[in-house]
Parts: sequence; structure tokens; C-alpha cells
Amino acid sequence: MRIVLLGAPGAGKGTHCKKIVERFGLQHLSSGDILRQERTKGTELGKKAQSFMDSGGLVPDQIVVDMMVSAIKQASTKGFVLDGFPRTVNQARQLDESLTKAGRQIDVILNLIVDDGMVVARITGRRSCPKCGAVYHIANMKPKKDGICDKCGSNLVQRPDDTEKVVENRLKNYYDQTAPVVDYYKANNTVYDVDANGKPEDIAAEMFNMLEGLPAEQKRRS
Ligand code: AMP
Repeated sequence: MRIVLLGAPGAGKGTHCKKIVERFGLQHLSSGDILRQERTKGTELGKKAQSFMDSGGLVPDQIVVDMMVSAIKQASTKGFVLDGFPRTVNQARQLDESLTKAGRQIDVILNLIVDDGMVVARITGRRSCPKCGAVYHIANMKPKKDGICDKCGSNLVQRPDDTEKVVENRLKNYYDQTAPVVDYYKANNTVYDVDANGKPEDIAAEMFNMLEGLPAEQKRRS
């Protein structure tokens, strides 16, 4: 299965992607995670992306498209879940063109819908592990020991783009540039809207039911 997970920042894309990939044996391809890894490694790509990311803006399309097309080519043949990509209609078009050339297509699009107030609370309370990428929340997903990653023991940090000031810009960018991607897909594909305001386990259960109930041709492996 090749899945795209859409939704505003803080809608829970990362959390739910992890659950979906575990359940269905797919690969998680997060454009945000790959960009952060490039920054940590200090690559040219990472340096180019840095200022856009810190201000809550979008990294230019061509940089992200080249990076993700290359990640998709190396992905497991079982399939993948795209998280944070595509984020503009231009990116979605280029992704479709690249997949079509390879005789492939996106099988399922899940659109996580969440209230703006929830987005701000979720993002500003988020704490991340800079070493292993694990994600926590100061109120509803606390680590066992305050400020310390359960998985690798590193000190947790607030991502520079998770502050209240930057979140506003990220939300604006979402409505201006990413929300139209939902309409782009709705024109030619089935998009499953998922209410993502509730408890993570209930949302995951709804998504699993939906994915397990898909017709066989949408679950086809390449
Ligand atoms: P995320 O972890 O998905 O919230 O992404 C963090 C930041 O990386 C975003 O605020 C953007 O600056 C950048 N980014 C991630 N994915 C994309 C994308 N598909 N297009 C442009 N910028 C992106």
C-alpha cells in the first residue's frame, strides 16, 4: 500500500504514521524527519532548508520533491506512508508524475482533521528527542522521567518551530498552501477524512478499520 497522510501541523500525522507502519509493515517517510536529519548531518540540503524550517515556512518545492522522490525509490517494495509530503499542489503533481513514470500510484489518502485550538495546544506542548526522534507532550504523553527520553535517555527539547510564534505561521502556511492538496486529491482519488480531535487510540482504531476494509486492488503490492 502507498498511503499519503494529510493534516495540519499537530494533527498527529507522525504519531499515526508510526502506528500504521507497525501494523501493516510499511515504511514511514517523513519529509520533516528527513530534513531534520540532513540538518543534523550538516549537509548542503540541510543548510538550504534551515532558515525556512526555523521560521515555520515551507522549504522550496524542488528541494523537497527531489529528496522525497529519491527516498521513495529506495523504499521497501511493501509500500510506504508519506508524512508531511506533499505539502503543496505542485509537490502533489510532481509526486504523481514520478509515480506514474514508475507505473505506480498513491492507493489511499487519509486526511486528519483537527481544530485550530487543538493544534496550538498539541504543538506548543510537544517535546522531542533530538537523538532518536521520539515525541512526547508535557500534558498528555509525558516521559517517565521529566525532560528525559524514555527510549534513549537524551534530554528532550522543544523544536524551534514548535513555539507559539512559529506555530501561527505554520498554520497560515497550511491553510494557504497545503489545504488545497486535499482538493487536488479529492478530484481524482478517494480521500478518507478522519476526525483527529479525539483520543489517539480511537483515531488509530478508525484508521485501521478503514485500511483493513479497503478493496483488494487498493491493497495491491507492487
Ligand atoms: P514537519 O516535521 O512535517 O512539521 O516539518 C517541519 C518543517 O520542515 C516544516 O515546517 C517545513 O519547514 C519543512 N517541511 C517538511 N515537509 C515539507 C514539505 N513537504 N514541503 C516544504 N517544507 C517541508
